[in-house]
Amino acid sequence: MAWETMTTMTTDRSVVVKIGTTSVTDARGGVAHDVLSSLAHDVVTLREQGWSVVVVTSGAITAGWAHVGEGRGRPTDSTILQAVSAVGQPLLMDAWRRAFAPHGVAVGQVLLAPLDFSHRGQYLHARSTLTALHALGVVAVVNENDAVADEEIRFGDNDRLAALVANLVTASHLVLLTDTPGLLTADPRLDPSATLIDVVTSIDSRLENVAGASRSGVGSGGMASKVAAARMATWSGVTTVIAPARAETPLLRALTGTHDFGTTFEARGERLSARKAWIAFAVASSGVVSINQGALEALENHGRSLLRVGVESITGDFVEGDAVEVHGPGGAVVAKGLVRASAESFNDADDVIVHRDDLVLLRRP
Ligand code: GLU
Repeated sequence: MAWETMTTMTTDRSVVVKIGTTSVTDARGGVAHDVLSSLAHDVVTLREQGWSVVVVTSGAITAGWAHVGEGRGRPTDSTILQAVSAVGQPLLMDAWRRAFAPHGVAVGQVLLAPLDFSHRGQYLHARSTLTALHALGVVAVVNENDAVADEEIRFGDNDRLAALVANLVTASHLVLLTDTPGLLTADPRLDPSATLIDVVTSIDSRLENVAGASRSGVGSGGMASKVAAARMATWSGVTTVIAPARAETPLLRALTGTHDFGTTFEARGERLSARKAWIAFAVASSGVVSINQGALEALENHGRSLLRVGVESITGDFVEGDAVEVHGPGGAVVAKGLVRASAESFNDADDVIVHRDDLVLLRRP
């Protein structure tokens, strides 16, 4: 089936809601049933209003350790943490099942790993599954497949995973529910005058600095990873909201668009096609193609393909069809695309190295 004609679950109103570990679990690491119930209420309400909703949940590792750790401090060894997720994930799913049960709504577990996003066939298949669950009236509850994902290539935090799922289902909104009121002007522990930023129209380096490396005790993301996820999502046309999980009807309020709750990151006007969003954000790059100024201008000002004459150097061991980063003369990433030549046979390749249909410019405002 052609990529662009795949049916997706897109309605005008489609939301991916991610809830973080500190919100899903309580002080002892057990599942916070009240928070899950409150979110289930919002999800059911939205579905009645015609929204399609996918839940991305964290908390498996923390809930798992609370169950088997006998009160000991959280381990740092990644193998232990991943193993413990195998204990916590079914506990978490049982809690979600119970949160939705009073509404007569079933939940389905979908565990994803980075490879599911970079392999195109797998990507489309994951999308079909999420679409089919929605059609069955089931709420998909997604987490990373922590137990088996290779540490080197794990997402590690569910913020990025949630942004990729938002891309996958071509959601209109991504809501990241967390343990802060939203994005603040400074770290409130260091600066008591910190205030909430209610709307962000574009994410620049200043904002990324504001987000800093704030971390809460048990979650792995922090504000920096939320802003990175917001960047990815808004770039693909998904409005993103960071909002407090422990508030009344948090998801409903995050979606009201009145900007009085949480931080809303406005979506870029132009939405990347599903395929280009996949190239830009989902598939890992296998190398770098560095280009000269003339080629950069041809790409950015004239919408051309990348030709071999414009390439200064290459690094990496890519093969035909792999994704590569395109670096400009200054060394900055200017685009990403699928190459039509392997690194090995680069000098014998046809003129077109990255066709414009396979190229995403990453510096456009
Ligand atoms: N997948 C991890 C878990 O369920 C959570 C990652 C995160 O904190 O975002 O424990």
